[in-house]
Amino acid sequence: MRLRNIPGSREAIAESPYTINEPEAYKGRWNEYFGNDRPIRIEIGMGKGRFIMEQARIHPEFNYIGIEKYSSVLLRALQKQQEEELPNIVFLRFEAEHLADVFGPGEVDRIYLNFSDPWPKDRHAHRRLTSEAFLKLYEKFLKEDGTVEFKTDNQTLFDFSLESAEAADYEIWLCTRDLHHSPYVQGNIMTEYEERFSSMGNPICKMILSKQRKEAATDE
Ligand code: SAH
Repeated sequence: MRLRNIPGSREAIAESPYTINEPEAYKGRWNEYFGNDRPIRIEIGMGKGRFIMEQARIHPEFNYIGIEKYSSVLLRALQKQQEEELPNIVFLRFEAEHLADVFGPGEVDRIYLNFSDPWPKDRHAHRRLTSEAFLKLYEKFLKEDGTVEFKTDNQTLFDFSLESAEAADYEIWLCTRDLHHSPYVQGNIMTEYEERFSSMGNPICKMILSKQRKEAATDE
């Protein structure tokens, strides 16, 4: 998601109390930041933050960190948070590539990837957030029984991600190519892109990955 550049958005972010400018300082200490022992769940590429803010509203028993690389998009989330001041969420303007500098081993309970950029050209495959290299990066800070939950309407990206999961030695706990007409839709929180694409008639695919073994649920 890229919005028109908003002049001053970087400055507004730097001054916002809802974001942390040097998140590396909290590596291994995020529970101290939140002031409790609740598990930490993150969304990488959260866009304007609708999904993760809804998670935070419904689940006060978890802490949430929304991560987005573009200032103009992140700013929208900060504006919403200014009105709501949810106590269990914070936002980072940060790039996925460097997340091992921000989270220590086992620090993250769940990673959400929603409608990640497909990067359709082969030579850009390494930028896809579900590439083998990214899945191996996530392993550095994911809990042993932690999960990566990925939704997309892009079948090609979904296929690619299943292959990456296998290559990176993840277990596939859930795999559905039509989430909205499956039993797993229960409790589903729609993202901005999900609402847009499903209203166009595109089926939504979802997978749940983990390093730990478990009986798989799959409609394949
Ligand atoms: N999750 C939202 C937005 C999807 S668009 C939704 O489902 O509605 C994908 C988002 O990921 C964009 O906002 C883009 O800026 C962000 N993004 C892409 N690559 C990223 C990266 N390497 N690090 C952080 N954010 C990234």
